[in-house]
Amino acid sequence: MALIVQKFGGTSVADADRMREVADHVARTVRRGDQVVLVVSAMGKETDELLRLAGEVSVVHPGREMDMLITAGERKAMALVCMALHHIGVDSESFTGSQAGFLTDTNHQNAKIVDVRPDRVRASLDAGRVPVLGGSQGVSTDNDVTFLGRGGSDTTAVAIAHALGADACELYTDVTGVFTTDPRVVPTARRMSAISYDELLEMTATGCPKPAMRSVEYARTHGVRLHVRSAFTWQEGTWVDEEVPDMEQAIVSAVTHDTSEAKMTLAGVPDQPGVAATVFRALADLEVNVDMIVQNVSAQGVTDISFTVPHADLARAMEHTKRLATEVGAGGVTSDDSIARVSVVGAGMRSNPGVAATMFETLAAAEVNIQMISTSAIRVSCVVDGERVEDAVRTLHDAFGLAEA
Ligand code: ADP
Ligand code: ASP
Ligand code: MG
Repeated sequence: MALIVQKFGGTSVADADRMREVADHVARTVRRGDQVVLVVSAMGKETDELLRLAGEVSVVHPGREMDMLITAGERKAMALVCMALHHIGVDSESFTGSQAGFLTDTNHQNAKIVDVRPDRVRASLDAGRVPVLGGSQGVSTDNDVTFLGRGGSDTTAVAIAHALGADACELYTDVTGVFTTDPRVVPTARRMSAISYDELLEMTATGCPKPAMRSVEYARTHGVRLHVRSAFTWQEGTWVDEEVPDMEQAIVSAVTHDTSEAKMTLAGVPDQPGVAATVFRALADLEVNVDMIVQNVSAQGVTDISFTVPHADLARAMEHTKRLATEVGAGGVTSDDSIARVSVVGAGMRSNPGVAATMFETLAAAEVNIQMISTSAIRVSCVVDGERVEDAVRTLHDAFGLAEA
């Protein structure tokens, strides 16, 4: 008998029919003799809708009330899925994050799990029931309801799988697994049968929306095997696991892209110790997540620093950096919100030179200009014009031979 955590995303529980399908699938798993813990997201686009409503009633959004509001989406879904299970004779009971033992910090809207105490969930399993957990939620050390952030249901699933020592954690979504690139951009993208935590982490950090990056981090830290698969076709998906040491690694496994960031440039900065420290400390204190950073060679004692920030933080970051520019004696600050980032990811890069060169040649042949470059041991990223990013993805996916044969 195996213990399996099954998590269903918004599209997979979007309406009554979808919920009945999920219930059927769970029933089949249970009748096969396995134990199931179910984790559900809010129905369809409900989280977005709740956020929109909050914006309509007020410009003030206290974290505590926002979390109370948003977690209501998952609460609704878990009760309804439970009823669908009862309807077909599967004994089940729903649990909020608090009831399921998810203890978090007090950072509303993006709370971090500090402990999982799954006693009630385990008791429910022992009693022969299917526990159904509302995803992305917990209770804080101050005893308030907390939300784990967008995409947090994936993290709920991984964390409960770890806490219970489950045999597998299945993340059901609207595609059949993790693809070599976004299948909406390249229809010939191929589903991967397996991928390592490290590669998937690089993919999710550079624009692949599935699974949520934090859940992959949690899975890697605790060695939870993931299976990303479709709730519509039920076919075998993508397994996420430790890299097999002597496996022949693909040099490039995937191409990702991200349009969520903007570029800022601080020009004419005095080239002396402490300037970068001042600028980036100020941004860190504002909780602006700075990503790629490039500093030019200096000429006549001044230099330029460019970096990327999330669109959502651009206005704030610009305002403060403009003020700082005067303080540190810089020439000025400019921004560009029409950039995008394209990346190639692959564990085989570690031992194969030339990936960056091929990437740059491919972009050059497509006349896509490169504005910034950054690398890790298993990734090369380029900032390009946002309007050309999908062309860049297509041509790179082709150049590295990733398409369906
Ligand atoms: P859910 O609603 O199930 O939580 P999302 O809608 O956030 O999931 O993410 C799933 C979508 O991510 C897919 O529909 C797919 O179009 C897109 N996607 C982008 N890049 C990839 C990729 N490399 N592999 C798989 N899906 C991808
Ligand atoms: N419903 C939440 C969201 O859309 C949490 C989740 O589904 O993971 O972000
Ligand atoms: Mg979706």
